[in-house]
Amino acid sequence: VTTRRPYDILIGQDILADTGSYIRECVEPCKACLVTDSKVNTIYSQVVISSLIEAGYQTSKIVFPEGEHSKNITTYTNILESLAEEGLSRSDLIIALGGGVVGDLSGFAAATYLRGIKYIQVPTTYLAAVDSSVGGKTGLNLLYGKNLAGAFWQPSMVICDYDTFRTLPEQEMLDGVAEAVKSGMIMEANLIDKVLKKDYGSVIERCVSIKKSIVEADERDTGIRQLLNFGHTVGHSIERLSSYKTSHGLAVAKGMVMESYAAYKMGLTDFDASGFLRETLSRFGFDLSIPYTAEELYKYALNDKKIHGDCIAMVIPESIGKCRLQKISLSDLGKFLRLGMEDYPG
Ligand code: NAD
Ligand code: ZN
Repeated sequence: VTTRRPYDILIGQDILADTGSYIRECVEPCKACLVTDSKVNTIYSQVVISSLIEAGYQTSKIVFPEGEHSKNITTYTNILESLAEEGLSRSDLIIALGGGVVGDLSGFAAATYLRGIKYIQVPTTYLAAVDSSVGGKTGLNLLYGKNLAGAFWQPSMVICDYDTFRTLPEQEMLDGVAEAVKSGMIMEANLIDKVLKKDYGSVIERCVSIKKSIVEADERDTGIRQLLNFGHTVGHSIERLSSYKTSHGLAVAKGMVMESYAAYKMGLTDFDASGFLRETLSRFGFDLSIPYTAEELYKYALNDKKIHGDCIAMVIPESIGKCRLQKISLSDLGKFLRLGMEDYPG
């Protein structure tokens, strides 16, 4: 990925035990602090730590409780204090082993500790592999909404061993499916077939390639990168309204169907993608219902980072594999959500 700091993405099976030797290709032996959550820690920490030691790194480990609820300022502070306690310097390294929560928090800690140190993403969820581990968006949730504090900070390498999905609960696999279908919808119709065939190696490769091209064109998310937000305006509101009981991917799945339907009803596109999406996502067993009102969704959508002045950029499907961005006013957003929820077919 050719961002201001270029980096490689390695995708393979059974490569976790070689993490240390891969990292040596881009970072000299130093202090390497593994950051992970309580669940991933019990399954995968040991193999990664051993390979780091073997490759000559001096290791330490920070573990926080698993789950979206940990993606907050308290966990972040604890990570920073632990890094300081371990005596990590500017030439040292953080290794984020886990899903999107670990990656986002560790990345933000890496961006801000000593004004920025290197970090490596080692995604262990389908969602992190196809989406969050690449692109350098890091951060945490505030009480008022998702990802409201953060930084752009690119990793030095991404090492994705999709054998780790074997221990991933079905619900978490679905979260990855939702983001992969999203990438297919915005850029590459064929990708959706690969998702249906569960061809993980090539799904990850295609998603990461799509994300690479978008991030290289718009690292700071001021233009085309906002295409990746398809389904996320409504999705983030659903996550927040459910107090994060509805997972990110499931919320995005619901959001994609509802936003597509609303865009069609509002006359922003001639193409109603909601039928195709509902059918595709239902094949995986997604529950696409939205148990909230348009007014509730609107309230939380107002905290969205995609709002500039009194406009928000919405992602509008033109066909399967092609979407465009369109700015709508906040009062039109209210109408958009009302039309979408009126006889929402989820
Ligand atoms: P997560 O990190 O909470 O992981 C989900 C659950 O799976 C956790 O309980 C975790 O302990 C467990 N787990 C992880 N790997 C496992 C494995 N191999 N085997 C068994 N259990 C495993 O959540 P996620 O779905 O990976 O990521 C969601 C987060 O990612 C959200 O906070 C979202 O905002 C963020 N996100 C960020 C970006 C970005 O660009 N930075 C993009 C998309 C999503
Ligand atoms: Zn997402």
